[in-house]
Amino acid sequence: MNDPVQPRRIDLLIGSEWRRGEGGAALSVTSPATGEAIALVEQGTREDVDDAVRKAEAVLPVLSGMTAFERAVLCHKVADVLASRREAIARDISLEQGKVYHSEALGEVDAAVLMYRDSAECAKRLQGQTFQSVDPTRRVMTIRQARGVYGIITPWNFPLAIPSEYLGAGLATGNAMVWKPSEWTPLTSRNLMQAFLDAGVPPGTLNLLLGNPSEVGAAIAGHPGIVAIGLTGSTRTGLAVARLAAGKPMLLELGGNGPTIIFEDSDLDRAAAAVGGGCFANAGQICNSTERILVQRSVHDRFVEKLVETARKVRLGSPFDAATTMGPVSNETIASKVDSHLTDARDNGATILFGGARATGLATDLYYEPTVICGVTTEMLLNREETFGPVAPVISFDSEDDAIRIAETCTLGLHGSIWTNGIGRGLRMSERLRCGTVHVNETSAYWQLHTPTGGFSGTGSGIGRIGGMATLEEMTQLKTISLNIVGV
Ligand code: NAD
Repeated sequence: MNDPVQPRRIDLLIGSEWRRGEGGAALSVTSPATGEAIALVEQGTREDVDDAVRKAEAVLPVLSGMTAFERAVLCHKVADVLASRREAIARDISLEQGKVYHSEALGEVDAAVLMYRDSAECAKRLQGQTFQSVDPTRRVMTIRQARGVYGIITPWNFPLAIPSEYLGAGLATGNAMVWKPSEWTPLTSRNLMQAFLDAGVPPGTLNLLLGNPSEVGAAIAGHPGIVAIGLTGSTRTGLAVARLAAGKPMLLELGGNGPTIIFEDSDLDRAAAAVGGGCFANAGQICNSTERILVQRSVHDRFVEKLVETARKVRLGSPFDAATTMGPVSNETIASKVDSHLTDARDNGATILFGGARATGLATDLYYEPTVICGVTTEMLLNREETFGPVAPVISFDSEDDAIRIAETCTLGLHGSIWTNGIGRGLRMSERLRCGTVHVNETSAYWQLHTPTGGFSGTGSGIGRIGGMATLEEMTQLKTISLNIVGV
């Protein structure tokens, strides 16, 4: 990956037409890995959103006229096209997002391929019900139908896999979609859009809208022709979109800052290796990254020593280098947030045991050292907010009740992880944590793609469940049909 990169122009795709945007000067996007300008992104407008909605509405009868089996074939074709371009797509992911090519970006393409295949198979098995009837002359049943035109808004941290969670399920169930990906990852967005076209998906089924989030994103959220929303992003964006989209069905997958709780009866070697993996994979930029590590006081020092050893083994460097295990963070907003969370912790008495700053001597200023910090308290930003960087903040606790008390000092409730050799304790704590997903003796960042995940109600981590059949259920609606069988 030594050849200089030429910036590629990324157009909008509305219906079957790639087109320029009228929403101001094209946005120049720079690689976090190399610092080179890699894309010039056309900027759409509200009028483009209107147009995309018209194109999407027009294709709905085509999609509903197909059987689930026919739409499943299209999903498999999208998967085939992505698989056939695996290396090229992964290179673009590393270039624009920064994750490690051989150990992370290729895996993201594989995950996306599986998502289209899984959506295809789930669609064939999506079921309604028949009900016992109180009236002998009536039959009552439910069927599941597409909702219509969906607005899909997605982030940069998994620029292929996260959109695919929605786009696979949406295509398989016969929805048409107006998609606004993150402004930071246009190359992958274009690659995915092209895969839909090359797979023969009817034009209008997926429309690619690029542009200023507060114009294009907001127009999608509030558009009367867009009847439902799927959004993965920060809690702040989730709240903004939810206000604009009030009354529409919404699948919101938002921020996480869940606790990983290490009890004294756990296997500390295994825990330290797995927890480090959860902190540093994708440079800590996963919604279920290990962001808060609560360690029982009696094993605190031993565990922290092992965690530092895990951090020491991380090889920070170019995502294209075979020796690298962690690449840069994706953009300056994230790097600055990590800076400010660490400064806040240091100023208030926490101790950096490893790392703690941006690395020097690399291609950009976005390479952040893997960091272990202890003496973190509940008031610190590291505990209260999602950091989204390669940081392992350690907090001590004394008892199960104490761990729950600390866990609840952050209002996000996406994921949690418990480390213990006590089977009862593992289940007891899983039931008590206010998180949508809890793992026992596993990193917080674990997920089997076909299983449901999402935020715990009443926290800021979102609503609804994504993953496998759960996504298809969210992206369809139940229709109840009753039939009078007399005389016909
Ligand atoms: P973000 O909220 O800044 O942006 C997400 C998307 O929303 C982007 O496409 C952006 O352009 C758009 N957007 C921003 N403001 C908008 C507005 N006012 N109206 C409409 N659209 C708007 O998030 P990000 O920085 O791209 O991604 C990181 C965040 O996503 C983290 O908080 C992370 O936890 C979360 N995330 C959650 C999950 C999950 O499954 N729960 C998965 C991945 C990422």
